Amino acid sequence: MGRNKHSRKATHVTILFAAQEGRCASCGACMDRRSRNQIKKGDRNDARTVDHVVPLSRGGENRLRNKVLMHLRCNMAKGNRMPTGCELVMREMVWARLAWMVA
Ligand SMILES: [Zn+2]
Repeated sequence: MGRNKHSRKATHVTILFAAQEGRCASCGACMDRRSRNQIKKGDRNDARTVDHVVPLSRGGENRLRNKVLMHLRCNMAKGNRMPTGCELVMREMVWARLAWMVA
C-alpha cells in the first residue's frame, strides 16, 4: 500500500513538472528535478516539492487539481497560508496546460 501511494505521488510530480516546464509555481525560476531526499543536505533549497495550493489543514484536497510544484525554499516561505492571487493564476495555467497535454 505504501508503495502505491508513493508511485502515485511520483506520477503527479512528473505531470506537474512537465506542465510547469520545470519552473517554480512561486518564483518562476527553474527547479531541481530531484526531491529533497535525493539531494544532499545544504543543497536542497532548489529541490522541487509538492505544494498544496489550498493547504490540507485548511480544507484543501490531496488531489492533482490542488497541487503545484515549487522550490523547497519557496514552499517553506509559503508555509500554511492560503494561496495568493498569483498562485491561483499559476494553478489555472497548469490546469490549462494539462488539458492541452491530454487532449
Ligand atoms: Zn521558487
